[in-house]
Amino acid sequence: MRVCRVVNGEDARYGLADDSVVTLISDEPFAAWEREEDVSLRTARLLAPVVPSKIVCVGINYRKHAEEMGHALPDEPVIFLKPSTAINSPGGTIQLPQPSMRVDYEGELAVVIGRRARHVRPEEAAHHILGYTCANDVTARDLQRKDGQWTRAKSFDGFSPLGPWVETDLDPSDLGIVTRLNGEVVQSGRTSDMIFDVPTLVSFISGVMTLLPGDVVLTGTPSGIGPMHSGDVVEVEIEGVGSLTNPVAPAL
Ligand code: MG
Repeated sequence: MRVCRVVNGEDARYGLADDSVVTLISDEPFAAWEREEDVSLRTARLLAPVVPSKIVCVGINYRKHAEEMGHALPDEPVIFLKPSTAINSPGGTIQLPQPSMRVDYEGELAVVIGRRARHVRPEEAAHHILGYTCANDVTARDLQRKDGQWTRAKSFDGFSPLGPWVETDLDPSDLGIVTRLNGEVVQSGRTSDMIFDVPTLVSFISGVMTLLPGDVVLTGTPSGIGPMHSGDVVEVEIEGVGSLTNPVAPAL
């Protein structure tokens, strides 16, 4: 299934997308739900597919990205948070914030939690995962370096595009992940190159904090990070999921 969220009149509704239709569902995808009316996928306005209480991100989880950042390989996952207010929709504008002179794309596989997870073992992780979507861990690289910790650099409104939907029937262990800037490939990796795989990450994070239905784990970016400028269009495509496209605009 592809679980999405769409604008429906005054409301946001969860639905199931196929190639042409979104079937609205009666409740959140984590609860018991029933199929309701169909709307056209072509005219539907997609929102980020979930509303997380938190976005837990993993830094330095691909070997080549560790090299390009000049970091040693971590011996356990390095995690940080983005606020839920950073969430951006498929097609939503990434606004370049005034204090930064360098804002980078980071294409990433996002894990969406489906069942509450606390002290989960790696072999139990799949039971707590709803599915997978595309993410862009937008980063103000200059502020990340200047501040010495990452909160400001990672947390501007709109810095967490997510979507287009959550693919629930997918093995995340070896998926192609490609980022394009204005149509040109700038990152190309495979999730099999992760230092810590998805079950390990969910297990590790669940030993720190309770993961709630709808929470999102960004699993780190492959090598090839670089800046975006006003007028650019950035796309993150993941094999078996789809693609997430966002335009970039100057600060208001
Ligand atoms: Mg990242």
